[in-house]
Formats: sequence, C-alpha cells, structure tokens
Amino acid sequence: MSSILIVEDEQHLADGLRFNLEAEGYQVQVVDTGEAALELLPARQTSFDVVVLDVMLPGKDGFTVISELRQAGQFIPTLMLTARGHPEDVLKGFAAGADDYLTKPFELGILIARIRGLLRRREWLRASINPSPEPIDTFSFDGKTVNFDQLELRVLDQVFPLTLMEANVLRFLIQHEGKQVSRKTMLEEVWGLHEDTDTRAIDNFIVRLRRYIEDDPTRPRHLLTVRGVGYRFVASPPDLA
Ligand code: CA
Repeated sequence: MSSILIVEDEQHLADGLRFNLEAEGYQVQVVDTGEAALELLPARQTSFDVVVLDVMLPGKDGFTVISELRQAGQFIPTLMLTARGHPEDVLKGFAAGADDYLTKPFELGILIARIRGLLRRREWLRASINPSPEPIDTFSFDGKTVNFDQLELRVLDQVFPLTLMEANVLRFLIQHEGKQVSRKTMLEEVWGLHEDTDTRAIDNFIVRLRRYIEDDPTRPRHLLTVRGVGYRFVASPPDLA
C-alpha cells in the first residue's frame, strides 16, 4: 500500500483529501506545518512514497520546505499545490525541486491521477533501468555517470543528487541520444501531458541539469538547445570523440 504525506493547513481540505485518498486505498498522514513535514521526512529514508505539499503554510512555506528537503538529500516525489494565477509559483516550485504541481482549486480526480502518475513514474524509472537479464542502472559519458537507481550523478569526486523528475528528464534525453526532442514530446512522455504545464518548466530543468553535467553551463556541449524545437543530448561531442 502506498503511503502519502499531506502537508496542508486548511483543515477541511486536509480532511477531504485524507478521506478520499484512504478510500482509494492509500495510507495517509496529514500535518499542517512545513516544520512537522520536515521532521517526518529525514534525509534519504522515509516510509512515505509521495508528498502533497501546499505552498501557503504558516511558518515555513512550501517552497522553503521542498528546498530544505532536497538540500538534505531527501528526494521523495513531491507534488506542490500552488495558487491559481501565479505561474511564477510553478517555476519557483520546480526550481526548488518539486516533481509536479497542481493549482488550487483542483478536482480530486486530477489530484489522484497526478499521485498515481508520480508513483508510476518512479516504477517506470526503476523498471526501465533494469532490463533483464543484465541489470543496467547507470549511464556514463564524458567522465560522468548517472545512477538512475540511486538518483544521483557523479562527476569526478562530486555527487549531485537528482530529483525524480530531473532523472526522468535526463533519462528521456539519453534514451534519444543524438536526436532532437521537442518540448511537447517531453511534456507528453515524461510528464504525462499536462496541458496546463508551462513549457518553460522544462527549460528550468535543463538549466539545472546543465549545471550538473556541463563544464561551462553557458556553453553546453552535451545538452544542446534545438532552436524553436527543444533539446538534444549528445554523449560524445565531436571534439571528444
Ligand atoms: Ca494553505
């Protein structure tokens, strides 16, 4: 049974979510502050599978909570609840390390679908990196190694932890090595087609991934921009071959 932590200070909303998610067969715990959530989510281990995190909270807000979690090495899939009409909140949430978002007010069915999506993508990631019979859970290029199982990227002696979404985006680009991939395709294949997702959210992921894998993020050699289309991953740039 999958376990969900809800961080929401609006009592009636929290109660409604608990009731309906439990009816869907999930185990649910509700806390009403970011501080309580941080206590329940120690680095690198937790009994929860997904976090639903409201942005507007008393004390530490959702953005602070997600960035503190990620900085502490806690990469549990997290869906943020942002206020409608604040597209900058979405980008801020992704920049802080959120995996998905939903604007309030939302339909319960959509929230459940998104939660399923996060759980499924985690399974997809784990399954697709372990094709039988020979388990392969890493990809190496140009002195860098992505470990999709551990959700981390090693560059020389440095280790960069990846969020589930960062790993999914990188994996998708690596799977299409050398080919251009449109933002729309990435939205459909990696995110599961959220028509309301701003495509700039993808650019935001690319900026972060470049910081990890490029020697000079302003002059990328692996994660290339295809003007007007999207991106292309190149494992071995010509001058390295
Ligand atoms: Ca709130």
